[in-house]
Amino acid sequence: MGFKNYTRKEFLKHLSYGAGAVFTLPALGSFNLFQDQKYYQIWRNFRELPEDQKLGVALVGLGNYSTGQLGPALLETKLCKLSGIVTGTPEKEDIWAEEYGIPESNIYNYDNYDEIADNPDIDIIYVVLPNSMHAEYSIRAARAGKHVICEKPMATRVEDCRAMIEACEEANRKLSIGYRLHFEPHNEEMMRLGTQQIYGPIREVNGGFGFNITGNPNVWRLDKEMAGGGPLMDVGLYVIQAAIYTTGKLPVSITAHEEKTMPEIFDEVEETLYWQMEFPDGIMMNGETSYLHGSNYIRAEAGDGSFGIQPAYSYGGISGETSSGTMDFPQVNHQTLQMDAFADHILNGSENRVPGEMGMRDVELMMAIYEASETGQRVVPDLSNYTP
Ligand code: NAD
Repeated sequence: MGFKNYTRKEFLKHLSYGAGAVFTLPALGSFNLFQDQKYYQIWRNFRELPEDQKLGVALVGLGNYSTGQLGPALLETKLCKLSGIVTGTPEKEDIWAEEYGIPESNIYNYDNYDEIADNPDIDIIYVVLPNSMHAEYSIRAARAGKHVICEKPMATRVEDCRAMIEACEEANRKLSIGYRLHFEPHNEEMMRLGTQQIYGPIREVNGGFGFNITGNPNVWRLDKEMAGGGPLMDVGLYVIQAAIYTTGKLPVSITAHEEKTMPEIFDEVEETLYWQMEFPDGIMMNGETSYLHGSNYIRAEAGDGSFGIQPAYSYGGISGETSSGTMDFPQVNHQTLQMDAFADHILNGSENRVPGEMGMRDVELMMAIYEASETGQRVVPDLSNYTP
């Protein structure tokens, strides 16, 4: 990263890092020595930055995820902090200002959003809006000169993902997706066991994530325009992610079919979707996602044993079993680690583990699953530009 696009604050922080004020082991992550380290072990060694040196994060959209998870997680981050909010609901302003000590000058609405460009307290904009709004608000964030974290799914169309990546590149700003499970130790263990073939080559992967949404059907999640799709875009995406990071491979072909029993509720988006993915080396993957049936697991069958986690994708309580016994890892705050990892990437050039390209790859894959479901045909996605 060249220095010319550093803000003054980033530049000072970078210097302080170089002078040994922070101990984050960033670049060392690529050495074999740390290959088996879980992210919480790396994060544990971060030395917390003084408040005035932490990168400032502004949350855009103060709905359930910001309120329940991201705001609280930012109280535990060591390299970044909550500095600003963007909300269209004036009543939320005082509540958040009081709870997180946010000055009035750092509170924005959707009309004056672009004025964030002039605010040096805000380094990162975190877009936590309904899916169809991710692209616009991420692109405007980059044009305002801010780094971007965008929630999953990255966008509702592949071309929007591309435009987001280009906007960040043009502005020389960093972009990451809210894929918190890359920083969760049980999920990281799935990556290790699978990619290092600890139980031999994987033969089959089974995974599912679904919940019953019908108690609250009047949500944007059931609006195709706002959500881009149904449970696949919302939670099935986690299963696709888990299959890829467990095998360390990208699928080569996809079949899928939908099941609909309540068309009056699911008149725009899918209700339940089952898909099969074929991976290289003959690995088969069966996935399911639903807005009716609950599921929350990923499991791999390998030549010399099996391993899996269930629940796999919740904010806490993740639990895993292998042929050798129960996985023994602590519960961590996924979002705290995810946001500090991004701050470390910005400040110290450590790896961006969940970049925009990964989000775009997954939108490509979800579109291929929809195509397979709608046509009944086997779809061969072109993923030649992507990595697992
Ligand atoms: P939510 O409905 O609770 O919040 C959405 C927010 O957007 C609300 O504050 C709402 O006021 C605001 N908003 C602004 N313009 C809007 C409009 N035109 N229509 C509707 N709402 C509008 O949703 P959420 O559960 O917080 O999800 C927000 C995003 O975060 C989604 O993209 C979702 O996929 C993602 N998310 C990610 C995780 C995760 O674990 N990474 C978990 C939950 C949600």
